[in-house]
Amino acid sequence: MRVLVTGGAGFLGSHLCDRLLEQGHEVICLDNFFTGRKSNIAHLLPNPNFELVRHDVIDPFKFEVDQIYNLACPASPPHYQFNPIKTTKTSVMGAINSLGLAKRVRARVFQASTSEVYGDPAVHPQPEGYWGNVNPIGLRSCYDEGKRCAETLFFDYHRENDVDIRVVRIFNTYGPRMHPNDGRVVSNFIVQALRGEDLTVYGDGSQTRSFCYVDDLIEGFLRLMAQTATVGPVNIGNPGEFTMLELAEQTLKLVGGPSKIKHLPLPADDPKQRRPDITLAQKHLDWTPAVPLEEGLKRTIAYFRTQV
Ligand code: NAD
Ligand code: UDP
Repeated sequence: MRVLVTGGAGFLGSHLCDRLLEQGHEVICLDNFFTGRKSNIAHLLPNPNFELVRHDVIDPFKFEVDQIYNLACPASPPHYQFNPIKTTKTSVMGAINSLGLAKRVRARVFQASTSEVYGDPAVHPQPEGYWGNVNPIGLRSCYDEGKRCAETLFFDYHRENDVDIRVVRIFNTYGPRMHPNDGRVVSNFIVQALRGEDLTVYGDGSQTRSFCYVDDLIEGFLRLMAQTATVGPVNIGNPGEFTMLELAEQTLKLVGGPSKIKHLPLPADDPKQRRPDITLAQKHLDWTPAVPLEEGLKRTIAYFRTQV
């Protein structure tokens, strides 16, 4: 098949391009390089089945493709808050343009949604049927509401135009090719520990997240895209739940060195807890994450040792 990956030069997108090429598909990677890097996909450039297109998803695009994965959107809070209006446009216009193309060429289209659609969740762990607790006017809203609107568009194109959609809600994912200055917690802690700097825990560090290793996540994407019974939304994430203090201590233990923990103010609207209910993915995709946090952290630390 010929497959379009928007945001293909980013952290998740580049791993997805790798897997699709390994499976023998042709891949068109579309990216505006806002947070993506050529180094993430440099190894793919000599591959005759790989094409790179510099383009912004807020402007329409036309390709003859069989499948579309729409991943284009900054994912780290400092990056998506850098230009919040652009973030909303990227989610909403990117979804409309991906869906419009899917409708024209009759391609199956995948949306990278997020656990942020649950906001600061009042239900724990979060099943797909939970509608969420999102502040519509806060600093995180450009991302959360943009992604919620993208989901709405996906389901309206599905109902109104019979577009063949798949929607995944991704929970915090980490691994090699995260940007060293990405600003998300796993890359921050590892880079700080490798530099011998103190680890910046926001607030008292009692807030929780559930961390999925990138290879597990991409396997979930491919399984959802390959089957016909479920369109989603499906949670994909690792249900292992850790406080940020536990993550900091684990990182210090694995990296070693002189770093200690220092506390900085908690950002506004920071969700207090997050953990996926993955019953649906287990049942319909026969998917369950295989890489435990310690193993995934070791692999990610090995990557960052080559970068820092
Ligand atoms: P990333 O920032 O590494 O990748 C995003 C990619 O999209 C980058 O290559 C960037 O240059 C590109 N991009 C951004 N705006 C664009 C635009 N207007 N036009 C074209 N390209 C654009 O982030 P990631 O972690 O790889 O996230 C990929 C997708 O997965 C995003 O949609 C994100 O919302 C979603 N997601 C990620 C996580 C996670 O933990 N990594 C969690 C939930 C959802
Ligand atoms: N966080 C932290 N130190 C950092 C970066 C993040 O303590 O250097 C916290 C942040 O406040 C949040 C959690 O780690 O509670 C996850 O943050 P991240 O930005 O990785 O993802 P998200 O908040 O979008 O889940």
